[in-house]
Amino acid sequence: MISEEGARAKILETVRPLPPRQLSISGALDCFSAEDYFARLPLPNFDNSAMDGYAVIASDSRHGAKLRVVGEQPAGADRQLRVSTGETIRIFTGAPVPGGADAVLTQEDVTRNGDEIVVNEDVEVGEFVRKRGCDLSEGQKILSRGERIREGTLGLLASQGLAEVCVGGEGRAAIVSGGNELMQPGAKLQPGQIYESNSVLLQALMKRCGAVDVLIVSGGVSVGEHDLVQAALRSLGAKIDIWRVAIKPGKPFLFGRLGDCFLFGLPGNPVSAFVTFLQFVRPAILKMMGATDLDLPKVPAKLVVDLRNEEDRSHYVRGKLKNGNFAPVGRQESHALFGLSQSNALLRVAIGESLKAGDWVDVQLWD
Ligand code: AMP
Ligand code: MG
Repeated sequence: MISEEGARAKILETVRPLPPRQLSISGALDCFSAEDYFARLPLPNFDNSAMDGYAVIASDSRHGAKLRVVGEQPAGADRQLRVSTGETIRIFTGAPVPGGADAVLTQEDVTRNGDEIVVNEDVEVGEFVRKRGCDLSEGQKILSRGERIREGTLGLLASQGLAEVCVGGEGRAAIVSGGNELMQPGAKLQPGQIYESNSVLLQALMKRCGAVDVLIVSGGVSVGEHDLVQAALRSLGAKIDIWRVAIKPGKPFLFGRLGDCFLFGLPGNPVSAFVTFLQFVRPAILKMMGATDLDLPKVPAKLVVDLRNEEDRSHYVRGKLKNGNFAPVGRQESHALFGLSQSNALLRVAIGESLKAGDWVDVQLWD
């Protein structure tokens, strides 16, 4: 049996990022950037008005001042207008600020009489002007290699005029569940049979982290006479790198290779399949897809019970994180799907570790 850390290290040194590809930004959500990107345009790209109002010279526009409206600048083509002393230009949100102007008076703060306005409010230099580069400077890093492309990232890339982005590879995953006792949901159960629940669970987990060229087999990787997966894979020429890991639940985990395809054999017990997927399959897939952050997000939480791990395997306790407290939920056995369904976080209790109620712990969020 290999240690949990050893298994993870072995898997992650074996899998390699897939070749990157160029994607239209509209299809790149949740992909991982294959390059560092830098701003080629500042944001905003030119000084522009934050309001519908009047572009003015602030020192000229004290309360009570009268200014002559000498032009109009809507958002769109820059009319290259200029404001001189005693003048103002009607301006609209997003429009380029005319030369000479250093502030914008909102239309609510003036009274308009024909081509003249009366200023009803003092104005400060820079008021309602969105300065070029105040949000983002030219050359500033906007996306790092390995970073996940989120909704906001896509908007930022588009704001830079980028129609495409270079991202990590994509592929397919096959999920196979085996066992004579398994029936598809929807069919009628015979005595001794159970409904097959791992495929849909694993597909959902796969969907959360994308999909690459791997084969995931659940069930039949253990030590019983009916656990035929390992022998079947070997007879196909597979090389088995790992079998049995010091992790609970999930000991009979298997990792290997068959040609270019990586093989993950997960225990049949649903909670074991779930935990080993998150600890071993997920980081491997993320690495293959070009991600650099391979860990589940961790958050600090206050433990509400005592926990002690006296076994020779690290224990992943399923629990609920709520309002900063972590409480184990449901039965902590590897078949206990109901408890799993009520949980949203995992707490790793290391071999020999003893935790007390009230201790601060880092829990892995998977929901
Ligand atoms: P195995 O790993 O094949 O020894 O299975 C361990 C336990 O998980 C047994 O109780 C199986 O009935 C159960 N099991 C195996 N595969 C599945 C599956 N796809 N869905 C639900 N339970 C399963
Ligand atoms: Mg079985």
